[in-house]
Amino acid sequence: MFNKILIANRGEIAIRIIRAARELDVRTVAVYSDVDRDSMHVRLADAAICIGPAKSSESYLNISSILSAIEVVDAEAVHPGYGFLAESAEFAEICENCGVKFIGPPSKVIRLMGNKIAAKKEAEKVKVPVLAWSRASLEDEKSALEVAKKIGFPVIIKAASGGGGRGMKLVHTQASLGSAFHMARREAHTAFGDDEVFIEKYCEKPRHIEIQLLADQHGNVIHLGERECSIQRRHQKIVEEAPSPAIDAKLRQKMGEAAVRLAKSIGYVNAGTVEFLVDKDKNFYFMEMNTRIQVEHPVTEMITGVDMVKEQLRIASGEPLSLKQKEVKLSGHSIECRINAEDPKTFVPSPGKITSLYLPGGPGVRVDTAIYSGYTIPSHYDPLIAKLIVHAPTRHEAIKKMTRALEEFRIEGIKTNIPLLLEIMKDHDFIAGNIDIDFLSRFS
Ligand code: ADP
Repeated sequence: MFNKILIANRGEIAIRIIRAARELDVRTVAVYSDVDRDSMHVRLADAAICIGPAKSSESYLNISSILSAIEVVDAEAVHPGYGFLAESAEFAEICENCGVKFIGPPSKVIRLMGNKIAAKKEAEKVKVPVLAWSRASLEDEKSALEVAKKIGFPVIIKAASGGGGRGMKLVHTQASLGSAFHMARREAHTAFGDDEVFIEKYCEKPRHIEIQLLADQHGNVIHLGERECSIQRRHQKIVEEAPSPAIDAKLRQKMGEAAVRLAKSIGYVNAGTVEFLVDKDKNFYFMEMNTRIQVEHPVTEMITGVDMVKEQLRIASGEPLSLKQKEVKLSGHSIECRINAEDPKTFVPSPGKITSLYLPGGPGVRVDTAIYSGYTIPSHYDPLIAKLIVHAPTRHEAIKKMTRALEEFRIEGIKTNIPLLLEIMKDHDFIAGNIDIDFLSRFS
C-alpha cells in the first residue's frame, strides 16, 4: 500500500478519500485554492498545499500546479476524485510518465472512453447493445439528414467529447435538423474544443441505469449491481438509488455481464461505471462509460458493504480485488439525495455563509459533506454541498427514512433544494417506482 497520496480535489469527495486512506494507514495531502483555505478537507488531511487562485482553471484544473505539489510533498500516488482532472487522459498520462500512480484507469482507456463514438464502437465489438446511431461523426448537414431519416425521428445529436449533460440536441423533425446540427457543432467546439458530433435514436421515457464495476491489475473484473439515476434535472442527477425498482436478478446479471465484458475487452482497471438507458420493455442500451469514482457511489457501498474508495487504493497499489463476483451480495435498499446550495424553485445557485447547521443522523443515515457551521460556500465551484444517504431493509422504509432525515436537516444562511427533495420523496409516482428521466419535468 502507498505511504502518501495527494488528493487532487476538494469538498466532500476529498474528505471521502481522506477517510478511506486513514483507515488504510495512508497519509494524505490535500490541495486547495485561495478561497478554500478554510475548507474542511484542508483541516482533515495530514498536510495541505495551496495550488492557486479560486478559478478552477488556475488551481484544481491546473496540471502543472498539481504536479509541482505532488513533487514538493513527495506523494506516490494521486486520487483525482470526480470532476476536475478525474477524466483527463492528459493528466493521467503525465502521471504515468512521471512515475506517479494515477488512482484510476490507464490514460489510454480514459482517452478511448472519453470519446463517445469510440466508446460505442467498443461496446458494439463485444455485443453490448447500443441505440441505432450514425456509427461515425457527421461531416455535414446532408449526411446528418440521411442518417436521421434512416434511424427515424426523434433523434439526439450528441458531442463526441460531451459530458455533464451538455452538448446534446433533441430533434423531432427533418425541418429542424439542419440548424440543430450546426448549433450542436458550434457548442461542442466551444465547450469541449472538439466539434465532432453524432446522431443517436432518441429513446422515449427511458430510465438511466448504471452498473458499477471494479477491476484490478490482474485481470479480475466484477460488478456491484446497478444504480437507478433517473431523477435528473437538465440531465444532472439529483436522487439515486440501489437497487433499481425496475431491475430483477436476471436483468441485473445480463447488464452486469455486458458491463464486465466491455471492461475486460478494453483493459479497464480500477472503479468505473457503465451507463445504460433502459426502455419501457426493459431493453437496455449502452450510453457511455465513466472512468472514475462517481458522486452516487455511496448507494452501492451501502447495499454491498464494499468500501469502494479503499478498493480503488488497493487496486492502484497492485493488490487483487478483495472479493469475487459470487461474494457480492446485495442487502436492503439505499437512496442518495444530492443537497445543492440553490434556490429550490429557480435553481439559481445560493453560495454564502452557513450561519447554523444541524446534520441528520440515527440508524442507517450517512452524510458525506465538507460543510460546517460558519463555513462560507464559495461561488466558484459546483453547488453540491452534501450527500444524504440512507440504508434500510426495503425501498419503502428507505423512502420513509430519507423523508425523516431531510426534515431533520437544519441549515441557515443559504438556500438549498431540500424542499424539492422532500416533494420527490412524497410523490406517488416516485413511491410507486414509476420513474423515468422525464420525471422531474412533469413534476415541477
Ligand atoms: P453526458 O456525458 O453529458 O452525461 P450522456 O450521454 O450520459 O451525456 O447522457 C446524459 C443524459 O441524457 C442521460 O442520463 C439521459 O437522461 C439523456 N439521454 C442521453 N441519450 C439519450 C437518448 N438517446 N435518448 C433519450 N435520452 C437520452
